[in-house]
Amino acid sequence: MKLILLGAPGAGKGTVAKMLTELDGAVQISTGDILRGAVKAGTELGKQAQDFMNRGDLVPDDLIMGIMEDRLQEDDCAKGFLLDGFPRTIPQAEALKELLARIGVKLDMAVSLDVPRDVILDRLTTRRTCSNSDCQAIYNTKSSPTKVEGICDKCGSPTIQREDETVEAISHRLETYNEKTAPLTGYYEKEGLLMSVNATSSDAVVAAIKERLGN
Ligand code: ADP
Ligand code: ZN
Repeated sequence: MKLILLGAPGAGKGTVAKMLTELDGAVQISTGDILRGAVKAGTELGKQAQDFMNRGDLVPDDLIMGIMEDRLQEDDCAKGFLLDGFPRTIPQAEALKELLARIGVKLDMAVSLDVPRDVILDRLTTRRTCSNSDCQAIYNTKSSPTKVEGICDKCGSPTIQREDETVEAISHRLETYNEKTAPLTGYYEKEGLLMSVNATSSDAVVAAIKERLGN
């Protein structure tokens, strides 16, 4: 399957993407994870992206397109991909359309994960992420806590609250989302590719996608 996952921060794009990779070997491509990896590794890309990310602002489109141009042409994408956190702006969506046409790849659909704002706020402030960049397991202090507080179940590293998950950075990310990313649902509707789902439950989202794709 070749899907775009759309939705506000905290809508569950990462969780749904992980569940979908287990179905047919499609790879999850998260621009957020790629950028955080670059920041941690101290690469040129990381240096350029870091300040935007910590403020909760979007990283400039040309940096993102540079990443995706390479990533989508790697061999593992042939089986399929789940784009998680990309595209985030109309110019990125237009550039993606041009890129996919150029490399001869056809998208199945863009799935919009719809979640009420109060649920989003609650999920984001209670989210904890494993600090080990090879693991990045995601927990939630209320709905899926670690067995030992503050320690990743999978690898034993400390879990942390991301720097962009303070209440202020979150409000700013949601504003940015409403202004820059929410218009993408209209864009993909016009393209005839949009599927909207109520995403309060990630299991229900995965079931609805499977049904729509006919497997
Ligand atoms: P979220 O939980 O907000 O969906 P992500 O992990 O997808 O977070 O992204 C974290 C940060 O990385 C964003 O706030 C933004 O600064 C940057 N980022 C990720 N993907 C993109 C993108 N496609 N375009 C611009 N900036 C991006
Ligand atoms: Zn871990």
